[in-house]
Amino acid sequence: MELIPLFSGSSGNATLVRTSGANILIDAGKNCKAIVNALNEAGTDPCDIDAVLITHSHTDHVSGLDVFIRKYPSALYATEGTFRGMARRFTKPHDSTPDIRITPGVRTKVSDGVFIEAFATPHDAAGSVCYKITEADQACVVATDLGVVTDELKSFIKGADAVLLESNYDRHMLVYGPYPEELKIRIAGDGGHISNDDCAEVVKYLIDNGTRRFILAHLSEQNNTPAKAESTVCDYLASFKLKRDSDYEMMVARRHEPTAGFCF
Ligand SMILES: [Zn+2]
Ligand SMILES: [Zn+2]
Repeated sequence: MELIPLFSGSSGNATLVRTSGANILIDAGKNCKAIVNALNEAGTDPCDIDAVLITHSHTDHVSGLDVFIRKYPSALYATEGTFRGMARRFTKPHDSTPDIRITPGVRTKVSDGVFIEAFATPHDAAGSVCYKITEADQACVVATDLGVVTDELKSFIKGADAVLLESNYDRHMLVYGPYPEELKIRIAGDGGHISNDDCAEVVKYLIDNGTRRFILAHLSEQNNTPAKAESTVCDYLASFKLKRDSDYEMMVARRHEPTAGFCF
């Protein structure tokens, strides 16, 4: 299984998961051409995408979907709430592809031996979810736009071999940054995003439960930097004597181009 971020952040999100049974694209948050270029760079022909999974209907996750799904028909998976939220974005029908409505907590078969499961998140878009992809005894999770960390979220991710996890903002940069007060409250609230500190706590929990590979993702451009996200998480882990590259591997998803990702 391979977990490869194509681009990440409020300027657009997409992640590629390659398994032996299926090529899965999670979110399509830049224009079709940018998605195609990123897929090619990652070594996957867009015609070979078997399934597109959408986490929620915010622009940074669906802006390229309308064109992409018509040009490269494949099964489209989302919750009922997300399909409703996306409806007005489809300029033309995409009849050739089945729309599959998923229910959080219910494992759904994507192809022989490959399953997906969604977890409902309190992020401020109807039907918002994050996804786990499993094949045989392997699993990876793509979890951004989380809003808040709960025990349920942690147990959903627990045991995955590789995790792409939101590390959206540095608390200090958000509080003293340029955003209007209302937006700061939205970002830090349960319907918003999780901070580097929240992310660090989740990563610690996951390492304690056997996960070794992490990709920090969906970093805010205004309220975070890759170095800040990385050091916040790694310093926190170091305080528990956890060493990078021996106890865990970590990378930060790049904003506009593919990141190497993990093959396991
Ligand atoms: Zn969102
Ligand atoms: Zn987002």
